[in-house]
Amino acid sequence: METKQSIIEQKEYIEKVNKENQNKNLKYNILTMGCQLNENDSEKLSGMIEQMGYTKTDNVNEADLVLFNTCCVRENAEDRLFGKLGEIKRVKEEKGTIVAICGCMMQEKQMVEKINKSYPFVDIIFGTHTLHKFPQDLYEVLQEKNRVRDILDIDGEVYEGLPVKRTSNTQANVTIMYGCNNFCSFCIVPYVRGRERSRHPENIINEIQELAKEGYKEITLLGQNVNSYLRVEKWKENGLDWKGINSFATLLRAINNIAGIERIRFISPHPKDFTDDVIEAIRDCDKVCKLIHLPLQSGSTKMLKVMNRKYSKEQYLDLVDKMKSQISGVVFTTDIIVGFAGETDEDFEDTLDVVNKVKFEQVFMFIYSIRQGTPGAKMENQVPDEIKHKRFDRLKELVESQVEENNQKYIGTIQKVLVEGKSKNNPNMLTGRTESNKVVIFEGDENLKDHIIDLKIISQHMWYLKGEIA
Ligand code: SF4
Repeated sequence: METKQSIIEQKEYIEKVNKENQNKNLKYNILTMGCQLNENDSEKLSGMIEQMGYTKTDNVNEADLVLFNTCCVRENAEDRLFGKLGEIKRVKEEKGTIVAICGCMMQEKQMVEKINKSYPFVDIIFGTHTLHKFPQDLYEVLQEKNRVRDILDIDGEVYEGLPVKRTSNTQANVTIMYGCNNFCSFCIVPYVRGRERSRHPENIINEIQELAKEGYKEITLLGQNVNSYLRVEKWKENGLDWKGINSFATLLRAINNIAGIERIRFISPHPKDFTDDVIEAIRDCDKVCKLIHLPLQSGSTKMLKVMNRKYSKEQYLDLVDKMKSQISGVVFTTDIIVGFAGETDEDFEDTLDVVNKVKFEQVFMFIYSIRQGTPGAKMENQVPDEIKHKRFDRLKELVESQVEENNQKYIGTIQKVLVEGKSKNNPNMLTGRTESNKVVIFEGDENLKDHIIDLKIISQHMWYLKGEIA
């Protein structure tokens, strides 16, 4: 009830700001760093901002409002933010642009202190739990011309009913749960996004039904730990459910029944939460893509323990085998961290061994960098940079050879491709994605955009395939 009231209040602020901004032809620019969850948050922020009378511009120099949605998972995001703040200072001096920063990085006290001290011109800072209050924060700045700092340390609530401005007409991200309870020792997410809390199934199903009516074909379900959806919700204790939905598996089955939706993806699951009912749902649901992102992080059982991942090398490989035996045509992508504290050559060989065995479609590789505030930052046996880079290069070489080997298998096959539009690198070609998320470029009429069509794959080029209309 409280969250509903809060959204009603924010809608009133949206109207107040809109009134202030009428006939001013104001523009906004938004820079999103990090994962798809952040992108989805930016879509909600854009929805609110556009209702407040701003139109989007890619040119920061003409923006009246600039918003940075930050990420703190990787070290280079900080450098990028500070570089951008340096640039925006000049624009603000010339134009009086309102500058706002939000996202995970703003939940870190030392970052907010640094911005307050070194970039005092930033008007609004808000955290991950106060995103819905941006209209009020902006209104206060417009009225008082004072700086606003709106950050909550406690776990946030789930807010429904915010306007959303989506970036695609056919593919939509739908966040189904927030936060994480796992505390992997390298990861900052549980500290900046709080504990797990899931959206009620009714709200998710209603949102996806609406998206289907609007013509959306592909849905990506998002969560920091997406397959633990509803794991800790109190209302489903004693066997309670909503129209049969009381778990991630039952949610997948319900979405599979929504007419108009043709593809369902989800990211990021945790291997420990891949219960049999989830595997069976993926097997049974024809719309759930048979590409599973299964974060490995390390192939060494010893390192997995240090990382607090709650599975061993053998359990991970058994899970892959189980899915391969039950789900026809299933393929995998993964995340791997190279050089976490204490990783020896032997541990790294275990990682290469898993990569060799699973033959991933794609591996998202990261060199470990310390995140202050996590257990990993306090570990003394950090791996020297030189060794990390050497290991990274070896892994990259192996992954690239496997990607090429995997891509060869597509040649001559017919793939169902969701057409996204003109290729950015070659405007004479169209681009789209297979069910296994491979980029395919091909010649065709622009009217094919947003349709799923059959393409024959004729060649492979490491990061994309080339096709022709079948
Ligand atoms: S599961 Fe681990 S890596 Fe993923 S968000 Fe939670 S703590 Fe971070």
